[in-house]
Amino acid sequence: MNASELYVTEVAIIGGGPAGIAAAVRVAESGRRAVIVDEGPNLGGQIWRHRPETVHKLPANARRWLDRLRAASGAITVLSGTSVVDARQEGGDSGFTLSGERAHTHCLVRAKAVIVATGARERWIPFPGWTLPGVFGVGGAQALLKSGVSFRGKRVIIAGTGPLILPVAAALAKDGARLLLVAEQAASASVASFALGLWRKPGTLAQAAKYRAAFRGTPYRMGQWITAARGDGHVEEVDITDGQTTRTIACDAACVGFGLVPNLELARLLGCELTSGAVQVDARQQTSRAGVYSAGEIAGIGGVEVALAEGEIAGLCASGRSAEARRLMVRRARLRKSLASMERAFAPRDELRALTTAETIVCRCEDVAFGAITRAAGLRQAKLYTRAGMGPCQGRVCGASLEFLLGWNADSVRVPSEPVLLSTLMHAMPNPSPSITETRS
Ligand SMILES: Cc1cc2nc3c(=O)[nH]c(=O)nc-3n(C[C@H](O)[C@H](O)[C@H](O)COP(=O)(O)OP(=O)(O)OC[C@H]3O[C@@H](n4cnc5c(N)ncnc54)[C@H](O)[C@@H]3O)c2cc1C
Repeated sequence: MNASELYVTEVAIIGGGPAGIAAAVRVAESGRRAVIVDEGPNLGGQIWRHRPETVHKLPANARRWLDRLRAASGAITVLSGTSVVDARQEGGDSGFTLSGERAHTHCLVRAKAVIVATGARERWIPFPGWTLPGVFGVGGAQALLKSGVSFRGKRVIIAGTGPLILPVAAALAKDGARLLLVAEQAASASVASFALGLWRKPGTLAQAAKYRAAFRGTPYRMGQWITAARGDGHVEEVDITDGQTTRTIACDAACVGFGLVPNLELARLLGCELTSGAVQVDARQQTSRAGVYSAGEIAGIGGVEVALAEGEIAGLCASGRSAEARRLMVRRARLRKSLASMERAFAPRDELRALTTAETIVCRCEDVAFGAITRAAGLRQAKLYTRAGMGPCQGRVCGASLEFLLGWNADSVRVPSEPVLLSTLMHAMPNPSPSITETRS
């Protein structure tokens, strides 16, 4: 069995997206020490995902935060390429222990306080053909582009909802994809009233206009959605409907996105209460567990500005400097308030529930069709009877789909929260092997 690495610190931060970066910077600038753990090869999370050689292409705001992080590096240990698979509170006053895997080695982080900033993932609404190669999540396509994969010359359809489809359409057009259609499922009246409500945020409107200009040669249709994808081993065509008429469009790739859902597994392992599908936090971003804070998408889908403000608040409060967070709390409240109208405008329409037929695969890890799942009385029974949600992704994809389709909530989470090596699993058990290399941070 490989030895473990042990890191002992004051504040452990899970997630190196905007929320985790802002939290780490504030902890370090408060004179405390932090360990920030992220499973990606570089910090930045979803929106600031980059390779070292493309860091200059990040927006100025992202570069400023990464510079601040570098300036505080004496107080921050960064563990990239490290997946946390267990998080627990130790007895008495001993704080928290995170257990993870890094380059095939088990690692432990012990800390007095934890900030969970694990972000969000895409929600899939399964439709016939959604598992075909060439059908991507919009965020997944964006991640591929940022990691250097090109769609140049490919005929691409984007179908989904929400503001995220705009930067992805712009990025694909810039990459040289032949973007045939961008279909937004929300009705044009909803999108128009949302856009009108943005008059107080000219920066956001200007950004949206800039994205739209980048794919100006492509129709951007409201009130239209994908109903099926077909192809022989790879997507070759998709059906798009407006509820009245359905047309078939030949394509090489379909990028589909029906919103985001928070990554709650580790917060749940720590025993944090949830509210409306996100981690419940107080004004200081503290969860229902004393010493556990949460920031960014995991505390409610809100975008990068909210993630930064919440990360800063969590970092300050976890360092005992709540008074300095007051101004940020006002800013957070203002930002969060304006999000409610976005949620309303881009709420998935009821017709989308009819996309998933009895034959549609819902759990793609275990190949379980919707018809088999609906014979069960709930998620637990569906797992027992069909193995839905029991595969490598542990229900990360089908869990959110079934919540949308049937209102079923995943009621349990198990260690390890992600697949790991057997040696890591053995270390991750409550009494890990004593063969550890200790690093103090
Ligand atoms: C796929 C995707 C693409 C997106 N693209 C855009 C975009 O182009 N433009 C835009 O404005 N917004 C985009 N968003 C929304 C954007 O992610 C958020 O607005 C913003 O990044 C939120 O910051 P965050 O720090 O809360 O989360 P994130 O940026 O998601 O960061 C969370 C971090 O936690 C890490 N993590 C999660 N679980 C673990 C674990 N178990 N162990 C270790 N690390 C872990 C992840 O690797 C990630 O780096 C995207 C979201 C998604 C899901």
